Amino acid sequence: MPGFELFGSEERKQVNDVLETGILMRFGFDAARKGIWKAKELEAAISKKFDCTYTHLVSSGTTALTTVLSALGIGYGDEVIMPTFTFVASFEAIISVGALPVLVDVDDTLTMDPAAVRKAITSKTKCVMPVHMCGAQADLDALQQICKEHKLILLEDACQSFGATYKGKYLGTIGDAGCYSFDFVKIVTCGEGGAIVTNRKDVYINSDGFSDHGHDHIGVDRGADLHPFLGYNFRISELHAAVGLAQFNRLEEFLTKQRAGHAQLKAILSQVPEISFRRVLDEAGDSCTFLSWFLPTTELTEAVVTELKAQNSWGGNFYWFDHNWHYIRKWEHLKKGVTLNALHPEYKAAILQQANKDFSASDAIMSRGISTQVALLPTEQQVKEKGEKIVAAVKKVLAAQKISA
Ligand SMILES: *Cc1c(COP(=O)(O)O)cnc(C)c1O
Repeated sequence: MPGFELFGSEERKQVNDVLETGILMRFGFDAARKGIWKAKELEAAISKKFDCTYTHLVSSGTTALTTVLSALGIGYGDEVIMPTFTFVASFEAIISVGALPVLVDVDDTLTMDPAAVRKAITSKTKCVMPVHMCGAQADLDALQQICKEHKLILLEDACQSFGATYKGKYLGTIGDAGCYSFDFVKIVTCGEGGAIVTNRKDVYINSDGFSDHGHDHIGVDRGADLHPFLGYNFRISELHAAVGLAQFNRLEEFLTKQRAGHAQLKAILSQVPEISFRRVLDEAGDSCTFLSWFLPTTELTEAVVTELKAQNSWGGNFYWFDHNWHYIRKWEHLKKGVTLNALHPEYKAAILQQANKDFSASDAIMSRGISTQVALLPTEQQVKEKGEKIVAAVKKVLAAQKISA
């Protein structure tokens, strides 16, 4: 997944362009910047390639989510439906705008189960926020249908799936709005950065203003433009955008490498009949940042994790069930409602209630799943060795189980 594996002369050149003008700010200073607008250039490039009307860059994927939730008018009294398997930023952003994260189970797509979404809808539901985890798609056809029926906003968290598509359209561009992350470990990185994409002019204008203290950016003089509403500073800098621009120009190169590594790894793991794979709704559009696979039971999965660790071959594999960044089971701070600032007692009680629901349906999936990262640098030989180590560990654990049975 990480673009950081492949920094080169393009990244250096883009950053140098900015340093030569000395204008590190993405807005204003029109004369001094000598025509260098890296953030604007990257926004235009993403809109063009992804065939969406507007792209707005911000400082991170988390601030992209926070900005777009505000731009969509989501806040106090609203419920946002999100999955149990995602990055912590999903609920951080929802809570930061004062809305309630309503957690729902994932299925074998590793993304939100549309049936669980239907059950979670109340009169307060305003938005459904699927997260396209590990490079592949949530069930957007089903979710769009639900949103249409109930007049809900569809906001795609595509932070982990930049460059992936669903039925020919780029993830993020299908709902009312979508978010991307360009943090250090994502497929395309700016160091830190994020983006909002939308076809809605109101969402774009609001996002542009909100992420720059509410400035309306009308008129030349930065000091003279108005602030029609409150905002924050979630701006990206020109230096970050410059790195992103060089990386974005290499997106196809990164995707091609990942797809080849993924296919190779999948062929190797397919030799073991007990291994099954994540259900991917549109295989051709998978960005293939991970190969996600399942074993028949939690016990076997845990034993394989232990075996790979014992052999020092665990690197690049993820058992999300045990991971405190990505899965509800280990989100202790959320489950206990620990915040630095005081929350209204009723709101806090509602968060606690959501975070402590029964998620056994998610557990039954997540406890049997391992994701193997597909990196950009390994050679075919190295991918082969990695796959064979996994196969050997699985076979060893299966054999031990048969003996003990
Ligand atoms: C990385 C990520 C984010 C947040 O992005 P940052 O740029 O790290 O703030 C949000 N959602 C998901 C699913 C992510 O993987």
